Amino acid sequence: MDFELSSEHQMLRDMTYRFAKDKFPPLSEECDREEKYTRDLVTEAAALGLVGAWIPEEYGGAGMGSLGNALITEQISRVDMGIGHNIWAASFGCEAILHFGSEEQKKTYLTRVCNGEWISAGAFTEPNAGTDVAGYRTRAVKDGNDYVINGNKTFITNASNSDFLVTQCITNPEAKRHDQFSLIIIPTKTQGVTTNHLTGKMGLRSSDTSEVVLEDVRVPQSNLVGKEGNGFRQLMDLFDTTRVWIAGQCLGLSEACLEESIKYVKERTVFGKPLGSFQISQLKLTEMAVAIEALRGLVYKAGWLVDQGRPDYSLSAMAKYFGGKTAVSCANYAVELHGGYGYFEEYKVQKWYRDAKILELYEGTKEAEILTLGRHLQRD
Ligand SMILES: Cc1cc2nc3c(=O)[nH]c(=O)nc-3n(C[C@H](O)[C@H](O)[C@H](O)COP(=O)(O)OP(=O)(O)OC[C@H]3O[C@@H](n4cnc5c(N)ncnc54)[C@H](O)[C@@H]3O)c2cc1C
Repeated sequence: MDFELSSEHQMLRDMTYRFAKDKFPPLSEECDREEKYTRDLVTEAAALGLVGAWIPEEYGGAGMGSLGNALITEQISRVDMGIGHNIWAASFGCEAILHFGSEEQKKTYLTRVCNGEWISAGAFTEPNAGTDVAGYRTRAVKDGNDYVINGNKTFITNASNSDFLVTQCITNPEAKRHDQFSLIIIPTKTQGVTTNHLTGKMGLRSSDTSEVVLEDVRVPQSNLVGKEGNGFRQLMDLFDTTRVWIAGQCLGLSEACLEESIKYVKERTVFGKPLGSFQISQLKLTEMAVAIEALRGLVYKAGWLVDQGRPDYSLSAMAKYFGGKTAVSCANYAVELHGGYGYFEEYKVQKWYRDAKILELYEGTKEAEILTLGRHLQRD
């Protein structure tokens, strides 16, 4: 057993942190306050190989695998999860293209995402169905050599800034429930596609979250990803990987909370002594540190298994589930340790507290992870 990261992964980790530390802070506050998206930073990150770093080199990626991408989501989230979200999610949806798409789709879409020219969005959630993935209603009907697509998607990361959407649609309404769906690539400039940036989020405010309206959108049938009717299973496979990266976000945000809290309890004096000298503060730091180390083990192992060609959906779900809980509780401890100061904009912990909650909501709510794990644990 070897717990050491490879030298390539160590270099990637350190380089990503340096990039985030240099580039994010001047923009963080403004982007959070004004809900501003920063395309320029995505372009800069792409130039360093940080966008789609998990994609093999032959399709323009850095070939760093899922573990490598988890290190990226961890390090960017240690600095600012909102801006970081724009960077890692610039390739969201492309996992399906890599694993199920045609050679032509891989060459067309993956290479342009990796070099920063294009941004993708994974457009799955609908206004009436999020957790219930088989409840989506967007329809794609064949007409000549095309599909004509109608429906609504919501809460889609990057959609207003994206060049194409990887979209879940019903193509086979007569089939059994889970065999009705297909993933289809829709270039965002296609006639009939409208995107609306949604404002008013509690956290992750520097990321773009949009609704998408699809009205008689016509795309060639060659935009189908893989086989018709496989969309549901393809999406489940995609989550096995992307949940590891969200768990990486959880890890990074939790580490930031711990680092900032340690700094603060050393500086702050209460009852004539450093705050950190009181056992109740030490308990909070200890709870954070232990959970972070346990989470690191889950994230890195789940990512490593994906890279070994043995993705483990239950481990990915555990990493995401435990990651969300850890991030929310670390952000809570960090605000508590900062006392009243932690409630003010001037202190970063209030932002992390707001940002953390999304980690228990997207890419499967924590309840959805419980359903997955509850079924898995009782399997014969
Ligand atoms: C900032 C942000 C970014 C996002 N980015 C994307 C994106 O890029 N692409 C995308 O497709 N989606 C995205 N989403 C959507 C996100 O994945 C969904 O919001 C999430 O899956 C939950 O779906 P929902 O909001 O419809 O909640 P619902 O499914 O309506 O769930 C409501 C509540 O009921 C619970 N619940 C549901 N079913 C059960 C059950 N069977 N048993 C017990 N409890 C249950 C849920 O856990 C939740 O607590 C994003 C959301 C946000 C807020």
